[in-house]
Amino acid sequence: MSETLNNPGYEIPPELQNQVAITTLDKIYNWGRRSSIWPMMFGLACCAIEMICTATSRFDFARFGMEIMRPSPRQSDLMIVAGTVTKKMMPQIVRLYNQMPEPKYVLAMGACASGGGPFKEGYNVVSGVDEFLPIDVYVPGCPPTPQALMNGLIMLQKKIDTQSIKTVRWYSKQPDQAVPVPVLGPDLIDPRQKNKIKEYTQAKLAAVEQGEANG
Ligand code: SF4
Repeated sequence: MSETLNNPGYEIPPELQNQVAITTLDKIYNWGRRSSIWPMMFGLACCAIEMICTATSRFDFARFGMEIMRPSPRQSDLMIVAGTVTKKMMPQIVRLYNQMPEPKYVLAMGACASGGGPFKEGYNVVSGVDEFLPIDVYVPGCPPTPQALMNGLIMLQKKIDTQSIKTVRWYSKQPDQAVPVPVLGPDLIDPRQKNKIKEYTQAKLAAVEQGEANG
């Protein structure tokens, strides 16, 4: 901190250096946020194992003030989308994002979250979470190593450093719009059609039972 605060971009008299911290409001505000980013604790597939490794003692992202992974979106600043995103999961991810308070950031970890990865052609996989959510940082790899994720987290900190409270969206006079929760593909079961689904299933079961009874 002292290095940032003692280099505010203008001259500090020598007698005040290392005694008095002079800075701008943006710098102190950004420093506070960048140094206490709390990621949400959830993972979707193999990339999540690397994310968990990044939190352990060998890599230890607590060094960036991120030691508290929150189980609640209400207390999280950062969503790390770590793993394959299926059509079934995407609405839940958008809901969790909408439940996070501002300021909030999203990091797409790995090939699957960034663009569908090896399952891109799958009927049940979305081709990148950025089709639905605003992504701040992409971390490439399948899976990305803990070092790569840490590099992505440092990139996010650098991005936060460039923000200004005069322009950030969460202080805008316009109310923030929630991201629409997507309804994806015919392979998703629509709960509103549950009666039809029930009738169809019962008819199928009856046909199977009838076939067995006829020998
Ligand atoms: S990018 Fe690779 S390691 Fe990560 S979730 Fe997809 S398949 Fe697994």
